[in-house]
Amino acid sequence: MTLLIVGSVAFDTIETPIAKRENILGGSAPFFAYAASFFGPVQMVGVVGEDWPEEYTEMFRQQGIDSSGLEIVPGGKTFRWSGKYHENMNDRETLDTQLNVLGHFQPKLPESFRRAQYVFLANGAPSTGLSVLDQIQGADLVVADTMDLWINIARDDLNTLLKRVDGLVLNDSEAKMLTHELNTITAAKKILNLGPKFVVVKKGEHGALFISEYETYLVPAFPTENVVDPTGAGDSFAGGMMGYIASQGNLNSETIKNALVYGTLVASFGVEGFSLDRYKEIDRAGIDQRLALFRKMTSF
Ligand code: AMP
Repeated sequence: MTLLIVGSVAFDTIETPIAKRENILGGSAPFFAYAASFFGPVQMVGVVGEDWPEEYTEMFRQQGIDSSGLEIVPGGKTFRWSGKYHENMNDRETLDTQLNVLGHFQPKLPESFRRAQYVFLANGAPSTGLSVLDQIQGADLVVADTMDLWINIARDDLNTLLKRVDGLVLNDSEAKMLTHELNTITAAKKILNLGPKFVVVKKGEHGALFISEYETYLVPAFPTENVVDPTGAGDSFAGGMMGYIASQGNLNSETIKNALVYGTLVASFGVEGFSLDRYKEIDRAGIDQRLALFRKMTSF
């Protein structure tokens, strides 16, 4: 089944308490696409500038990611984001955001992308997500991500988008912010009234929660000591989750639970390195080895 992702593509500068990396590949789309590619083919839509290295396109191709939906703007500069993590490796502050070509992004889907059955609208302006949905013909499953920025500055567009998606993935604090609720479960249930049929709440190192009208599923995070850079963990979680769902072609309870676990496990590898570094060292068999460990830890 085809899985399409639209999201940001970035050059990130990341500072952690132990290391700093400049202009490394980041953005919601690469993290999501690479994580999803362990489960099947991925179509990627985004925008970059003339500074985009050809080697990244080749890396995507080798990984089964079709990046023909990645627009390269002549004379333009790729989106840049810079963040610094605190000692606890969880909290971070944004030091700099240069939207560059992302600021004027109007996605144009290649003809071959318009019949995608599974669609993920990663963190970005809700208007971008709406424009993508206008170009897609009858997807089976549409899931979106959002963040505090869009809740604050694009609430009307976000409300329109929520009525057109099947699922919403967001952080604990964002779910509370969106609904003005203090309890995560109450917040998630309230989001179901805004349009989505299910909500996945990401709770960072405390795992994730799936809530629909009749179902509630919970998955803890994989306990890892080796956190090098948590950037993109949320996008990687969503990529693993959606990649697995697309590979199964259904959304029954077993698929949902396995998808939450795969999302968790893929993200647990991602944070063990900067950018996509750790993903380049693993494959599906490595993920399944960690799955066996996870099963031992959580079954009772
Ligand atoms: P996460 O750690 O899941 O929040 O994802 C971090 C990634 O999101 C980084 O690689 C950034 O390049 C990208 N990013 C940061 N701010 C934004 C934004 N306003 N819109 C889209 N992508 C962003």
